[in-house]
Amino acid sequence: MAEETIFSKIIRQEIPTPLLYQDDLVTAFRDIAPQAESHILIVPNKLIPTVNDLEQDDELTMGRMFTVAKQLAKQEGIDENGYRLIMNCNQHGGQEVYHIHMHLVGGQPLGKMLNL
Ligand code: 5GP
Repeated sequence: MAEETIFSKIIRQEIPTPLLYQDDLVTAFRDIAPQAESHILIVPNKLIPTVNDLEQDDELTMGRMFTVAKQLAKQEGIDENGYRLIMNCNQHGGQEVYHIHMHLVGGQPLGKMLNL
């Protein structure tokens, strides 16, 4: 069994974090340390530690993450100018929280994709 992270507590609202969206599959809230004007995390309610742990049964949830990202980008008013969706995996990917999440970042030009 994978160990729960702070995200499970946020999803269950045991840690009071304002939610931007929640349904039976996913939850979205603002990143605590925003890297851009707009920085939202979209998280599956089910604990999946990394992208490597995804299973076929998770495909609906992954699809929902994208449609919620699209909806939130519009709500934030960043859809027309554009934004970036990021999922980090493991150490080289820079993953810090082992409960997969999609970063929705925008609200300003984001520059080149990678700063190696
Ligand atoms: P990762 O590096 O794993 O892709 O991203 C983890 C993200 O979660 C970071 O951007 C970090 O700022 C954010 N984060 C970590 N702990 C919390 C928290 O307790 N609340 C919120 N809202 N975001 C968090």
